[in-house]
Amino acid sequence: MAQDYYQTLGINKNASADEIKKAYRKLAIKYHPDKNPGNKEAEEKFKEVSLAYEVLSDPEKRRQYDQFGHDAYTRSGGAGASGADFRHAQDIFSQFFGGGGGFSFEDLFGGGGGRRAYNGPVDGDDLRYDLEIDFEDAMYGADKKITMPRMVDCPECSGSGCEPGTGKKTCSRCGGTGQQTISQGFFQMRQACPACGGTGQVIEKPCRKCRGRGQVQVEKSFQLHIQPGVDTGSRLRVPGKGQAGIRGGQPGDLYVFIHVRPSDVFTRSGDDLMCEVPVPFATAVLGGVVDVPTISGKAKMRVPAGTQSGTTLRLRGKGVPSLRGGARGDLHIRILVESPVGLSREQEELLRKFNAGLTAANQPRQKAYAERAGRFLRDDQS
Ligand SMILES: [Zn+2]
Ligand SMILES: [Zn+2]
Repeated sequence: MAQDYYQTLGINKNASADEIKKAYRKLAIKYHPDKNPGNKEAEEKFKEVSLAYEVLSDPEKRRQYDQFGHDAYTRSGGAGASGADFRHAQDIFSQFFGGGGGFSFEDLFGGGGGRRAYNGPVDGDDLRYDLEIDFEDAMYGADKKITMPRMVDCPECSGSGCEPGTGKKTCSRCGGTGQQTISQGFFQMRQACPACGGTGQVIEKPCRKCRGRGQVQVEKSFQLHIQPGVDTGSRLRVPGKGQAGIRGGQPGDLYVFIHVRPSDVFTRSGDDLMCEVPVPFATAVLGGVVDVPTISGKAKMRVPAGTQSGTTLRLRGKGVPSLRGGARGDLHIRILVESPVGLSREQEELLRKFNAGLTAANQPRQKAYAERAGRFLRDDQS
């Protein structure tokens, strides 16, 4: 049944913004599902106070609510609405406590280890490793030796943190509960006990090798196989090579982020490669064959007669090997026609004679350009 939002928060109609906040804070903590596991009634209450707060804390929504009443803000029921309402209520809660509250959700309930002393396994963290490789390694694949510091179980105490022959005792600060209660303002919060880190137990005599941490840092090396085709931004997952778990927890994974050094011959775009090749003036005019570099060695490429500078020719399948097992990319060769320099007097003379014999039909681009430019200049003058 729809209940009046003021009643829900237990305040009267002319409550101030501050009173609304205080009422919500108190009730949201009281009914939060983390404090009432499995309690459907509390969850319902939690949703109700969150929705009431959402409306009454917004001056515009509150004004409409006061004017049009509850119907304006009754949410439609039906399948799924309940779950969505709950998530929405959680959002309101985290915003309220995460935003300006000054303390986090974890502080409120003693997060991390949970609500009571925790001694079970904890999985290790994932690690990140940035690896720079040569362009060639990305093309042909490679095996790289990775050396990095990792936390592993202390060999001296097998991860217990206790000096061999000694054990653990109940934490005197929290009496074994793993928690401590602190007062903040007008309400109380529970936190993981700082003396025992929430485990409820403390080490009698810390292991000398790991100083009671149960783990030590070691340099570990292993071979990483890099497949042909990787690119900057590729991320390789290496299962089990992350941080070691605690008390029998699973080790984390290692993520290797690839950075490929640029090549001074090729530029890469996806699985395609690009390469600029200077071609002699006469070869571009008469046609011929030039040598071009590819990642599978030197190749011969036909240059058709009358090739212009800037023309791109494609060598199919001479690009980057596909990481996903698809077709190899292409190699795009961009032709740069090289004008000869340092000519002898005799060569210059020949070229002048040659040039004098050219007609407009020999240089169709010149003609087309002259027409376009002429039109533009006429338009400009009128
Ligand atoms: Zn140790
Ligand atoms: Zn303790």
